[in-house]
Amino acid sequence: MKCPKCGSENPNDSVFCVSCGERIKEKNNSKKYLVALIIVSVVCVCTIASTIVLSVLYTKKVNEYQDLTRERDSYKSSYELVLEQYKDLNIQNKPSKEELDEIIRKQYSE
Ligand SMILES: [Zn+2]
Repeated sequence: MKCPKCGSENPNDSVFCVSCGERIKEKNNSKKYLVALIIVSVVCVCTIASTIVLSVLYTKKVNEYQDLTRERDSYKSSYELVLEQYKDLNIQNKPSKEELDEIIRKQYSE
């Protein structure tokens, strides 16, 4: 390895020049440092990006779950309401569960 300052030959693993004391390994080290910095940056960016993506997906799933829960509750309450109405009317031929489902489905589709 040649010294950039005085041009004298040095062993390949030397950090400083044996004749003038100039730092030889600096360029190599800064390259390694740059590569390490890039790797760390990429890992950081990936971590942040995946955190954002996961939190967005999680929020989406939570919202979907809440919507489904609301839908189920309103369906359940309307089903109970229809049952209650039939009870109040004291109808002899009570509709079957399937017929009630059909009535509720019609109400929902309107
Ligand atoms: Zn030198």
